[in-house]
Amino acid sequence: MARLDGGARSWRNWSRTATAAAARFWRPADADDVARAVRWAARHGAAVRAVGGGHSFTDCAVTDGVLLNLDEIAGVERVERRPDGTADVTVGAGTRLHALNRALADLGLAMANLGDIDQQSIAGAISTGTHGTGLAFGGLATQVVGLRLVTADGETREVDAGRDPELFEAARLGLGAFGVLVAVTLRAVPAFGLLAREEVADLDEVLDNLDGPDGPDGWVATTDHVDTYWFPHTRRALVKRNSRVPLADLDDLPSLPAARRWLDDELLANGVFELTNRLAAAAPRAVPAINAFAARALSDRTYAAPSPEVFASPRRVRFREMEYAVPREALRDVVGELDAWLRRTREPVPFPVEIRFAAADDVWLSTAHGRESAYVAVHQYWRMPHERWFDAAEAILAGADGRPHWGKLHGLDAERLAPRYPRFDDARRVRARVDPEGRFANAYVDRVLGAVGA
Ligand SMILES: Cc1cc2nc3c(=O)[nH]c(=O)nc-3n(C[C@H](O)[C@H](O)[C@H](O)COP(=O)(O)OP(=O)(O)OC[C@H]3O[C@@H](n4cnc5c(N)ncnc54)[C@H](O)[C@@H]3O)c2cc1C
Repeated sequence: MARLDGGARSWRNWSRTATAAAARFWRPADADDVARAVRWAARHGAAVRAVGGGHSFTDCAVTDGVLLNLDEIAGVERVERRPDGTADVTVGAGTRLHALNRALADLGLAMANLGDIDQQSIAGAISTGTHGTGLAFGGLATQVVGLRLVTADGETREVDAGRDPELFEAARLGLGAFGVLVAVTLRAVPAFGLLAREEVADLDEVLDNLDGPDGPDGWVATTDHVDTYWFPHTRRALVKRNSRVPLADLDDLPSLPAARRWLDDELLANGVFELTNRLAAAAPRAVPAINAFAARALSDRTYAAPSPEVFASPRRVRFREMEYAVPREALRDVVGELDAWLRRTREPVPFPVEIRFAAADDVWLSTAHGRESAYVAVHQYWRMPHERWFDAAEAILAGADGRPHWGKLHGLDAERLAPRYPRFDDARRVRARVDPEGRFANAYVDRVLGAVGA
């Protein structure tokens, strides 16, 4: 119990939208420590939440009970190679994605797809449905083939498609409501490279090209990973099209000189972007001109690198975000409605709207469950009010049968979420079975899943 000796502590998330005053803040070193913490909480009638990188925008990790930081439960535990070149890799649940990417690369492996930063823990990332982009690829939870978790009775369980498959399905994207994950087994793929093509283009042209003039032959269908950033109040969008290439081909493809990477990814994307956002906060009426300048400052580039270097970028400008997964075919209409609202209200929004794609999957609480999805994310600089913009975007995106990212700001509750998820009631049933007293409940989980037993 030596490591469970921390006292009360306050905590806040990256975007400064959530704070917690936890009665106990502990850093368990293994599953036994976690089990002891859960039993201690049961004896004292306290709730338990785990926290990863604190990169969720919602209050999903908040508790006034026991807050567990799993940074010490990290690293590769086991690698099982498979005949097709993939491998099942078991890692500590607190492993940060940047460390995971390095460890997998040392094994000649990689995550099949990633989001656009690598600061999250693997447990935190899968628990809220973190995703990247690519119509042939699911979110990170689809890459999970097994879990070890400590449930409310203090037992440590191994679950997968064969052992308690219902708990596995619920807990691999489970908002921390089914237990504390201590290990995650991922299906990793052979390491690969990405050839990145980034260009700034007219928004209408981009929307035409995403799906192609005749539908299925556009960029989204023909390129592995397509990511679009549209600058509000302008018709300009930055499109990133990444194609998978064998690692061995990287030597023959253009690389990004370190100086150019620093200029683009640090100076322009962070340093100058912070300044333009501060200017926007001080002079909101100048936002259309600022956005036009920002869109012009970007230049086209083509380069290739190992996949984690292309997927993830440093994000140092703090912001708030809301993101919805809408049926892919609704994309054009919702972008049109967002644009119309911005034109009508002239709401100052200096941050781009991001558009990504994902395959349909079968994870119970996945935002892409059962349908090909377009993800539409709206952002706001953290020093500027986001409420009017996010409320308007939510009305449009939720109105298009959208499903909100579980880790990003949104206003839906269990009543409005349930009809959007065919397996919602199954997840609630499993939660009532493994956590009948709501040991892992908090205000957020109770809002979005409903209180246990309700
Ligand atoms: C700059 C930035 C960029 C982002 N980019 C993307 C992106 O590209 N794609 C995307 O989909 N999302 C993105 N996100 C959102 C982010 O990936 C998710 O919110 C993710 O959950 C954060 O992971 P984390 O480790 O910080 O988890 P936290 O925010 O710390 O926790 C998330 C949830 O997981 C639970 N949890 C954490 N650890 C455990 C555990 N061991 N057992 C059980 N439950 C646990 C917590 O209680 C909480 O409910 C981004 C966020 C930021 C701030």
